Amino acid sequence: MALRKILTYPEPVLRQKAKKITVFDEELKQLAADLGQTMYDAPGVGLAANQIGVLKQIIVVDVSKSEEDKKFITLINPVISEGEGSVTGEEGCLSVIEYEAKVKRFQKIHVTAQDFDGEPITFDAEDRFARIIQHEVDHLHGKLFIDHLSALKRGLYKKKLKKILKNRL
Ligand SMILES: [Zn+2]
Repeated sequence: MALRKILTYPEPVLRQKAKKITVFDEELKQLAADLGQTMYDAPGVGLAANQIGVLKQIIVVDVSKSEEDKKFITLINPVISEGEGSVTGEEGCLSVIEYEAKVKRFQKIHVTAQDFDGEPITFDAEDRFARIIQHEVDHLHGKLFIDHLSALKRGLYKKKLKKILKNRL
């Protein structure tokens, strides 16, 4: 396993679409392990490959029941095939520094994906789990949670970010 660098907005790779995975090999398992390690190191509760500069459709999502028993799932080529209900909740992103905002998401989703053998998996997710998956799947499409906000709010964040980055120089 290796820690990877998490890229942050406005890094262009975050705006690119990840490609569908067609090769299910050891390298893919290694990538998933790296994503998991990098996510927990951050710390975060989800991570998409785009965020470490890899344009492949793979995400990891934390499903830990407790602090001592860290566990995450890996979703390869995940697709949200159905969504119902809507809930507004606070979101942040490891790639969007120093910002949180309320985002509207489906309350419940149906997910199809593949496992490490390329076998299909399907399941339903709700609430927090569903929110994280929707956020991470967005990343694979080059989308960030700030894209769900009004142009005004997004503009304010861009201004704030400029100041933050300037102060870091
Ligand atoms: Zn994110």
